[in-house]
Amino acid sequence: MNKKEQSLSIIKPDGVSRKLIGQVVKRLEENSINIIAMKMIHMSIKEAQGFYAVHKKRPFFNSLTDFMSSGPAVVMVLEGEDVIAKYRKLMGATNYKEAAEGTIRKDFATDIEKNVVHGSDSLESAAFEIGYFFNSFEING
Ligand code: ATP
Ligand code: MG
Repeated sequence: MNKKEQSLSIIKPDGVSRKLIGQVVKRLEENSINIIAMKMIHMSIKEAQGFYAVHKKRPFFNSLTDFMSSGPAVVMVLEGEDVIAKYRKLMGATNYKEAAEGTIRKDFATDIEKNVVHGSDSLESAAFEIGYFFNSFEING
């Protein structure tokens, strides 16, 4: 049996302002993904830059960090077997134009940057990202 994993999910500022929190949470619940922590935050530009530090050399870094600090976002810790890959499959490809039918990004994203959701891409990034937003008392593991 595969080990239980955790993943960090973000409903990005476009998802919150477009009132898509419920739609995203519904898809998580319908797919038996456990939400073990959840809160609304509004990242400062510095916090967004720290979160996306891996992308700091990319041409879209400034625009991405401006966007991620432009309004409130919802951060969640997801838990389950294979949850990193499972949630990334539910999200769909980064570019919504390439996302599979029935995925969150295919159904709701409007832009390659404003793509509604974030999900950790590895165990290592999940550990960093969860620790970036949550302390152990906030996680109901
Ligand atoms: P995320 O990390 O948000 O879950 P991802 O892993 O699918 O998404 P990454 O390659 O890690 O995609 O890029 C991080 C985020 O940067 C993307 O979700 C998107 O918001 C933005 N982004 C990625 N590529 C581009 C691009 N070519 N132009 C503009 N923004 C981009
Ligand atoms: Mg990524």
